[in-house]
Amino acid sequence: MVEWWRTFFPTSHTCHFCATPIRRHWFSSISKQICMACQRQLPWIGAPQCKVCGREMNQRETNICSDCQTIHPSDWVYNRSVFAYTAFVKQIIWRYKYKGQEKLAVPLGRCMAETLEQQWTKKKFVLSYVPLHAQRLSERGFNQAERLAHVIGRYLRLPVVELLVRKRMTQPQSEKGRDERLSALVGAFAVHPDIDLEQLVDREILLVDDIYTTGSTLRECSKPLKEQGIKNVYSITIAR
Ligand SMILES: [Zn+2]
Ligand SMILES: [Zn+2]
Repeated sequence: MVEWWRTFFPTSHTCHFCATPIRRHWFSSISKQICMACQRQLPWIGAPQCKVCGREMNQRETNICSDCQTIHPSDWVYNRSVFAYTAFVKQIIWRYKYKGQEKLAVPLGRCMAETLEQQWTKKKFVLSYVPLHAQRLSERGFNQAERLAHVIGRYLRLPVVELLVRKRMTQPQSEKGRDERLSALVGAFAVHPDIDLEQLVDREILLVDDIYTTGSTLRECSKPLKEQGIKNVYSITIAR
């Protein structure tokens, strides 16, 4: 006979990222809910990191990487990413975004929440996300970054606000050269018309996205926020 509590607190599950059965404990850290084989392939970004973009660095380097040193500090977005963008991580993100495995938002969002807790414990963030253009949203059916923001918000008890709108459709970043990529993004984002940023000037804003490539998307998202008085913008992505 199955004890009644097993129906509410089942003790056998599969790994979040594959079909391997494991014992998983809901209240333990996310890494205990992932099988050993997947854990070994997850390239968590460790310390030390660039103070600005979160890139993993050697001990000997300064605490700001060479890329961030070429960017004016007023344009910095303080980013942290959970994993290095290896083939394994790329495949998980691809399953999440394009293969209908939207429930992967839960473990991915939990990994992001735990990274935030480690990196910026004391900050009381207002969460938001990189918006999709309406046309892309209707093609994909959901905004992958928005869904992750809601998982993080539930886990860390932080509000999620739709702060930004995407005014223009842009091609996927990876299909373009650097200059073309930057010019396509300029002015692509604006503050959502229903948002009164004055109420948020004392809060720390954290934007959620899936992948950090050069940081140009996040910096472009931060511009309309900074123009309206937000001092620092932070971000978190699954991978970089
Ligand atoms: Zn697994
Ligand atoms: Zn950096």
